[in-house]
Formats: sequence, structure tokens, C-alpha cells
Amino acid sequence: MITREDIRELAQFQGSGPDCAISFYFQPPRPSNKSHREEAILAKDLVRHALRETEKNGRTGNARADLQRVLDLAAGLHGKETRAKAVFACGSRNIWREFDLPPLLPDTQLFVNRRFHLKALAVILGAQPHLWLVIVDRHRARFFDLHLDELKERESLFRALPRRGRGDGFAGYDAGHAERSVNDEILHHFKNVTEYLKQGQERGAFDGLIIGCQEINWHDVEPHLHPYVKKRLLGRFVADVGSVTEEHVREQANRILRESLDQHRRGLLSEVLGQARSNGRGVTGLRRVLRSLEMGEVQVLIMGENYSAHAVECASCGHLDAHIVRYCPVCGRSTRELEDVCDSIVPAAIRRDVELLYMKDEPALDHVGNIAALLRFRADQRKGIAAAS
Ligand SMILES: [Zn+2]
Repeated sequence: MITREDIRELAQFQGSGPDCAISFYFQPPRPSNKSHREEAILAKDLVRHALRETEKNGRTGNARADLQRVLDLAAGLHGKETRAKAVFACGSRNIWREFDLPPLLPDTQLFVNRRFHLKALAVILGAQPHLWLVIVDRHRARFFDLHLDELKERESLFRALPRRGRGDGFAGYDAGHAERSVNDEILHHFKNVTEYLKQGQERGAFDGLIIGCQEINWHDVEPHLHPYVKKRLLGRFVADVGSVTEEHVREQANRILRESLDQHRRGLLSEVLGQARSNGRGVTGLRRVLRSLEMGEVQVLIMGENYSAHAVECASCGHLDAHIVRYCPVCGRSTRELEDVCDSIVPAAIRRDVELLYMKDEPALDHVGNIAALLRFRADQRKGIAAAS
């Protein structure tokens, strides 16, 4: 399974030529689509076409060997796969990485470029954070792990059985005591569960948490949730520990995740736009976003789902410019044109741990050029503070 470390490593890569980084994405056909063969044939056609292009351009080195290897892999696809696939290759650097992904790619695609094409990967990872789910009642807690569409049930916690005292046989003699001890043990059980969650949060085991329980038990759990754990809580649903099915857990988790991501995106966008209007920690438009990225100011980068723009990149210092200029305004060396600036800013954002958000059909974002960023700070205003103090 792909990790953040993997994607960061791919984002570090910069090839020496325009065709040394090969990115191949395979999306199996949706179950509703009956023509399984088509997708597999399309995959092979894409690779064959790229092979012909490299030959036409007189490049017969590593790119060709890599593409041949991708073609062999595509030849083995029959379109009945249940997982999508991503392959990143650069033979001259000895890189060949293959990942299985949830079947949520927009398309089967092949890119031959200077850098790996990471947008599809960033979209999937952004939409599929690592979730923990806990289904809990007064006796038991079941823990599930949901990441990249794979649901796994892990451990269970059980409440210690009440101690049956010597007094049990004598009518009512120890009843009050026994009841207190049961209540103590229930309390202890809920504290155990929330302590377990706190430890998971502390070691970064999950990005988001979802709790399933009966309404009445929510009042038992909630007071014990650590504030940091609560911050990660995306939502909860009604469930019965004994009878809940994996199907139901998955369904509820996906629904809650979708709603919470929607809310998160909309909240961030309105924050960015508000901040940009007041000249605060928000910027909009490609030129301003590029400058903030270069200054290391960006915390969240928001783009329209199909955002793409021409730009130039300095071959020497890496400066990106929205103006198509032949010479770098920073160092004076020559620039090269980027057909799509995203090929460069997506890896840059991943390397710098910038959160990437893609939004679909959002008029407010469209209005400001389909690209915006929330900033951690503003370098110009920081200087102002330093000078004033
Ligand atoms: Zn430069």
C-alpha cells in the first residue's frame, strides 16, 4: 500500500531529460461497464503510442526500455482487475515503483515527462485519509482501519467480567456492592477505549476517527475523549457492536468521510477567499500563488479539479513564472516552457507538506482563476513585525 513517504520520494524526483519520468495509471472499468477488454486494450494502445513517439524523437535509451516494461505489464491486464494501478519508472535512475490503488482514478493515463505525474495520486490520497473506526458499547469495542478503500478489522477490547463475589448466593446481601463494581468496570472499559484512541492519535496512527455506537452509549464515551482525539472525530453513526457488518461500517464511513471532506473544502475555500480579500493569509491567482509557494508560505493549495495553465520554469534555479519569459527574472538563465504548471507545483507542494485540495464546479474558485492558497504566514508582513519590534 502506498504511503506518504512513497509519494514524497516520487515528488523529489527530477529527471535530466524531458522523457525520463514515466507515470502510468490504470483504472479498471466500473462494474456497470461490461466491456472489460476495452480498458486493457486502451492501456496497451497508450503505451504503444508513447513508444512510437520516443522512437520518432530519436530517443531510444532508457525511456524505451521503461515503456517496453510498462507495455509488458499492460499486456497482462485483462480489465477484470478490482484495483487500479500506478507505475512510476525511470530506468536511468533504477526506479520502478508499482502500487495498487482503489479503483477511483479518473482514467487510464500515461505520462512521459521530466517529473512524475502525481496529481491522480494526490487526489486519491487526499480523498482517502487513514481512518480509524471504533464500534463500542458497554461490553466491547471493535476497532477497524480504513485506508485507501481497504477495511480491516483489528483488535477488540472487552470489559473485564464483573467479579462474582462470595456474597452472590446470599439474597441481596452484596447487591449494592456488585452493582457499584459493575458500574466501575463499565467506566473503566470506556476509559480504556478512549485511552487506546489517545495513544493511536499520539503516534499518528490515524488522520480521522469515526465512532459507531448506540445513542445512549455516546454519553458514556464522549466525556472521556481527549481533546486532540475529538479534533480528529469526523462523525459518528448508530451501530450495534454485536451485529454490525463490515458492509455497514464501510458504507457509513464513506458517507461521513465524504460529508466531512466537503465541509472541510468549503470551509477552507471561504477562509482563503476572506483572507485574500482582507490582504491576510490568503492569496488567489497563479502569479500570487507561485510567489507564495516560492517563499514557503503556503499551507493549503486549492485548485479546480481540471486546473491547468502554461508557465515557464527556470532550468537553473527552478523559479516558476506565470509570464512566458525566455530568461529567468531571478537568475537570468534561460527558462523552459511548461505545458501545465501543475506538473511542477504538485510535486513542489508534496515535497513541502502542503495540503492539496481539488474542488469540482466551484464558482467562487473559478472566479479567482481556479487556484488559491491559504498561507501559514506572510513573509512581507512578518518583516513588518520584525522591523516594528
Ligand atoms: Zn533562475
